Amino acid sequence: MRIGVPAETAALETRVAVTPETAKKLVAQGHYVLVQTGAGVASSAPDEAYRAVGAEIVDAATALGAELVLKVRAPAVDELAQMKAGATLIGMLNPFDVEGLQRLAAAGLTAFALEAAPRTTRAQSMDVLSSQANIAGYKAVMLAANHYQRLFPMLMTAAGTIKAARVVVLGVGVAGLQAIATAKRLGAVIEASDVRPAVKEQVESLGAKFIDVPYETDEERECAQGVGGYARPMPESWLQRQRAEVAKRVAQADVVITTALIPGRPAPTLVTEEMVRSMKPGSVIVDLAAGRGPLGPHGQPGGNCPLTVPDQVVSAHGVTIIGHTNLPAMVAADASALYARNVLDFLKLIVTKEGQLQLNLDDDIVAACLVTHAGELRRRT
Ligand code: NAD
Repeated sequence: MRIGVPAETAALETRVAVTPETAKKLVAQGHYVLVQTGAGVASSAPDEAYRAVGAEIVDAATALGAELVLKVRAPAVDELAQMKAGATLIGMLNPFDVEGLQRLAAAGLTAFALEAAPRTTRAQSMDVLSSQANIAGYKAVMLAANHYQRLFPMLMTAAGTIKAARVVVLGVGVAGLQAIATAKRLGAVIEASDVRPAVKEQVESLGAKFIDVPYETDEERECAQGVGGYARPMPESWLQRQRAEVAKRVAQADVVITTALIPGRPAPTLVTEEMVRSMKPGSVIVDLAAGRGPLGPHGQPGGNCPLTVPDQVVSAHGVTIIGHTNLPAMVAADASALYARNVLDFLKLIVTKEGQLQLNLDDDIVAACLVTHAGELRRRT
């Protein structure tokens, strides 16, 4: 089969869907791997590395015109125009973007959005949300440490003692857990909050303190269980109590890392402007929900903090607020390595041993990821 690997064209996107490592495996399986020239350069994979494993270096039209196209992000309109009706597309296609999916359907593509895979044990090796969130959590701490004008660890020196940084992590899914682990390795003192009670044990096992906000009604308890492992919007009564508890911690924090998301909905506001005002000068917020929250005072969607500006580092009330929306792309080589392995594992579900595409809708992962087929949207959003 001819497998196309176009260069990504989205702004600030540096990842690539197939690395020389996975290209080698695809070639060994008998496929023609057509990599657009320069596609891997930003993730440290030059054309020669692909050539060395038997891939062909081609132009954009050839890569996009393949029978199977592997991408990181959804194709732009001009890329779609170069794709063939009936072709198969795999990528992070944003399953909640109905207009985007309609464009894919109109182009006659069979498209799989890998973010829609269920959070099950069998799907773990192709779970792009986890592989990329893990990297985002790590990078969030690196960025915070870089912008924070003090040290993370406690240091006792001949010139005096330096206190450990206090880090607060809000939202403890995959990214939040990695942020806690990374901040811990740097010597910070960490507190964390999440709506899901199951998280408490994980937080404590990483050596951080869980900010307890007890559930007072059946509705609160039920919402906190979430659905499919994901959070659901919590009742306002609980959110108010959470805000009160979080506010106390944020006022004392040196670094706040927010990662709270609810699939298909705006990210919840956890750090209000008033809380930012209460923070110490020189504190840092890294908002991983940047661009996914309600509209902020600057006229763009904020994140878990309304003052966050997507893809910018801003200063408000003496606090640095970091709003990069694509942290994995800042660790392009490893983010691509993990993503490409996720893609390779997913291919095992839709490519037969003979190298033919098959659409087995009895497979729950295939059925969940399929977003368009035969000109139609397949997924209710
Ligand atoms: P996510 O990115 O969707 O959300 C990040 C975190 O924000 C979640 O922990 C969520 O509970 C939390 N959150 C939402 N609203 C909040 C609020 N108001 N206050 C505080 N926190 C809030 O999460 P994710 O990293 O994609 O993980 C989602 C779930 O999937 C988790 O339960 C995780 O354990 C599970 N998971 C399972 C597997 C698997 O079994 N294969 C793999 C990865 C993740």
